[in-house]
Amino acid sequence: MSSEFLVDVFELARRAAAVEGTLALAAAARLRNGLRHAEGALTFRLQGLHDARGRPAAVLTLRGTLPLVCDRCLQPLDMALDHEATFFFVRSETELAELPVGDEPEEPLVGSRHFDVLALVEDEAILCQPISPRHAQCSPVSSQQQRVERSDSPFAVLTRLRHAR
Ligand SMILES: [Zn+2]
Repeated sequence: MSSEFLVDVFELARRAAAVEGTLALAAAARLRNGLRHAEGALTFRLQGLHDARGRPAAVLTLRGTLPLVCDRCLQPLDMALDHEATFFFVRSETELAELPVGDEPEEPLVGSRHFDVLALVEDEAILCQPISPRHAQCSPVSSQQQRVERSDSPFAVLTRLRHAR
């Protein structure tokens, strides 16, 4: 792995610096598991900053195409990825464990002087993958499916909402 992407994230935040690059799908073993093929790459940028609370933080921007397969028709489905996530960094696992749970949108990460940016990019791309990828015309919100679902069922509505995301 290129040491170029092993980054001191505290320094990155302090200097408000950024690292950017590409992650080849072929080099992302865990992400590849869910993909149709491993051609192509994701481009990313990790911009260091201090968040509103003065903590070392970073915004990750992720762009590219994920070659997926539609769960319904089993045909290729290329999903455009244009994603942004904000993280803040703590110094240790202990500090992480002491954080209150879920009171803010930013996600805490254990930072380091050799933080693996490519692993973060891969993790985030995996999180972006739908559990059940479907073409718009193959999704349960299509007219055909809607007629089958009971419109008065709150579960039908929930199902549609979930799949619409
Ligand atoms: Zn489909």
